[in-house]
Amino acid sequence: MADPARTPSAFGLTLDDWIEWAVERGLTKFRAKQITEWLYIRRVKSWDEMTNLPQGLRDELKSAFSLARLPVVRLTGSQDTTQKFLFRLHDGRLVETVRIPANVHFDGGQSDRITLCVSSQVGCAYDCKFCASGLAGFTRNLEVEEIVGQVLAAEEESGESVRNLVFMGMGEPLANLSRVTKAITILNAPWGMNIGARHMTVSTSGLAPQIEKLAESPIQIRLAISLHGASDEVRDRIMPVNKKYPIDRLFAALEVWREQKKQKITFEYILIDGVNDSPEQASLLARRVRPMDAKVNLIPYNTVEGLEWKRPSEARQDAFLHTLQRAGITATLRREKGHDIAAACGQLRLQVETAEGVIQAAG
Ligand code: SAH
Repeated sequence: MADPARTPSAFGLTLDDWIEWAVERGLTKFRAKQITEWLYIRRVKSWDEMTNLPQGLRDELKSAFSLARLPVVRLTGSQDTTQKFLFRLHDGRLVETVRIPANVHFDGGQSDRITLCVSSQVGCAYDCKFCASGLAGFTRNLEVEEIVGQVLAAEEESGESVRNLVFMGMGEPLANLSRVTKAITILNAPWGMNIGARHMTVSTSGLAPQIEKLAESPIQIRLAISLHGASDEVRDRIMPVNKKYPIDRLFAALEVWREQKKQKITFEYILIDGVNDSPEQASLLARRVRPMDAKVNLIPYNTVEGLEWKRPSEARQDAFLHTLQRAGITATLRREKGHDIAAACGQLRLQVETAEGVIQAAG
């Protein structure tokens, strides 16, 4: 259980929060700037290392905020393959983060275009029928510092900066909107983790009102929609959220997004054999997407233990792709295994700890 007396994390505050904290104590704003520099630029692990702060201030900070990192309980994969981090949260819950290296090699080195796939919740309430994350239901929202903490820990563990970030791990980021937007502020800020806003993507199952809310915010992140069905009939069957926000309602929100952000949206479409991969669905999808100047990523369904569906044949996958392309849609079909971000992230499952160690929670 969450401990209400727990020391708050220093990684849940924005520069404005730090300024407010400093000003309340009669300190200059400059102290706030110094603190964020120690936190995010120099990445010190103790308040005592903040040598340009007066001892009294360091002592006060030490008793008010924790600098603790998210402890890694398990790390699978290697530096040049997809890596999965399993972190333990303060209440014993576990959360996963996936690090995907760029498969671009140059002059004996590797490009630094690392993509990190972060989680936004423990479990998920939306119950998409293809997804492993929702199998055990929803547990709780992640705190701001738990989202920022995934990136911080992954960078410290690998020694490399994260350049691209996707909210495609466990959870529905738009159902935790206030914390996710605050985390994005810290991740994007030059005083913070310094990841370009255009290199961050929020992926959603289609929470229309929250898409509109995010559209009105000044943050310039990218948006990906997990669509997976081109008619309400098909999408209802795959994603229960569609009953609440049917396709027309979702697309009305996307118009608000496009109007505000003037940027391309990406649609994710998992191909599931005999469920959403018919030529009719492909044509309907093309008709929906064409007026939007959007991009479609087709992802062959990855089998999830405990779920019945399977991946279509390669011929059927290709046929779906070609129908879109013939209709003039920019579409890709990602088959490559280890480097498939969506598939790697989409397989994150709520984990529980037992006496024997970490096991996957059964559905
Ligand atoms: N709730 C958010 C974030 C979760 S990421 C959302 O719905 O967008 C969801 C993405 O993970 C899907 O769009 C898909 O790209 C991927 N995914 C999930 N389950 C998958 C599966 N069984 N096979 C392949 N990709 C999957």
